[in-house]
Amino acid sequence: MLAPSSLPSPLPSTAAPSFDVRPVVSSRTVATPLVSFQGVQKTYDGVHLVVRQLDLDIQRGEFLTLLGPSGSGKTTTLMMLAGFESPTSGEILLDGKPITRTPPHKRQFGMVFQNYALFPHLTVGQNVAYPLTVRKVTKDEQARRVAKALAMVRLTGMGERLPSQLSGGQQQRVALARALVFEPQLVLMDEPLGALDKQLREHMQIELKELHRQLGVTFVFVTHDQGEALTMSDRVAVFNDGVIQQLAAVDDMYERPSNRFVAGFIGDSTVVTGTLESGDAMRLPDGRLLAGVNVNGAKIGSAVEACVRPERILVRPGGSGGNTLQARVDGVIYHGDHLRLLCTLGDGRTGASVKLPLADGVPPQAGQTVTLEFPPALTRIYSL
Ligand code: ADP
Ligand code: MG
Repeated sequence: MLAPSSLPSPLPSTAAPSFDVRPVVSSRTVATPLVSFQGVQKTYDGVHLVVRQLDLDIQRGEFLTLLGPSGSGKTTTLMMLAGFESPTSGEILLDGKPITRTPPHKRQFGMVFQNYALFPHLTVGQNVAYPLTVRKVTKDEQARRVAKALAMVRLTGMGERLPSQLSGGQQQRVALARALVFEPQLVLMDEPLGALDKQLREHMQIELKELHRQLGVTFVFVTHDQGEALTMSDRVAVFNDGVIQQLAAVDDMYERPSNRFVAGFIGDSTVVTGTLESGDAMRLPDGRLLAGVNVNGAKIGSAVEACVRPERILVRPGGSGGNTLQARVDGVIYHGDHLRLLCTLGDGRTGASVKLPLADGVPPQAGQTVTLEFPPALTRIYSL
């Protein structure tokens, strides 16, 4: 059965008790993550660590995305979890027990990859049934579960077709049905939407998220696309150069990046360079001071960059209030629900992108000079 009730229980309820006493719960239900990477390292050539030091807990029922540029170690991490690669050092635990030396088929995870690799000579139904055939499930039970899995990915009635008779998006859904049909507690996906065109990819992102919500199983998803990661995930782990730079819930990741790499990799920012002047202000090359949050312990006198999101910059009618910089509007782009101002700051070279809500009155025009306010609490200063 693929009904939610028959699957491993999702995360424990987070509803807070109305009194100030924590309920007594066994350490197993709360404390033991589904998966735990402990001090995992990986080198392929014995010299260069492509995963440098991985300590990562994956909670039951969550949608976790490993996000990062090409070559940052995402696939290697997923392959170690799947069992197709072994760590050079460290342990991987499932439910608190080491699986580092357990072969892939005994881990019983569902898997979907970019090149979905359906068996071309088998029908859609036979492809989906394959994991059940391997597990010696009876024919009747197979038929029932395949029908259910195909319904789940909205391919009812397609069971007799060959993969070549389906579109790319439909083939990817078959691969998903095949990964889910044996009710794995953990589903691993490596850039599964990478081969699809933009519209279909965005549609599948919403479907995957909804499927995750319905099933309550744990999804670990790999992508290099930050928009995709933010759309679908509960938490995101940002990888760079074999190291997790930040692990956080999506809103936290966007609002409070913990270093310059994450701030630049996720979302747009206006970036202003300067030197740290005091605990919470930087000196710009033209001598002005800009206040902000010193995020990661930059030292006074060191080179820093401040990043501000486009929707956080305020356009002031005139004058120069606190924490403001003058800018020239180079272009105004109409987006229907907002305007985007493309500006150049007073130094003549730093670009600033401002997301402006539609409002009554005349919006700024190209060629005009405006005053941009950078709210100090949302101006994040990073060491380089
Ligand atoms: P990502 O999925 O983030 O793009 P990978 O985990 O595939 O990154 O790769 C990380 C690094 O390991 C890259 O430098 C890549 O070239 C190298 N690498 C990946 N797989 C192998 C392999 N089988 N043999 C040798 N090097 C590999
Ligand atoms: Mg990869």
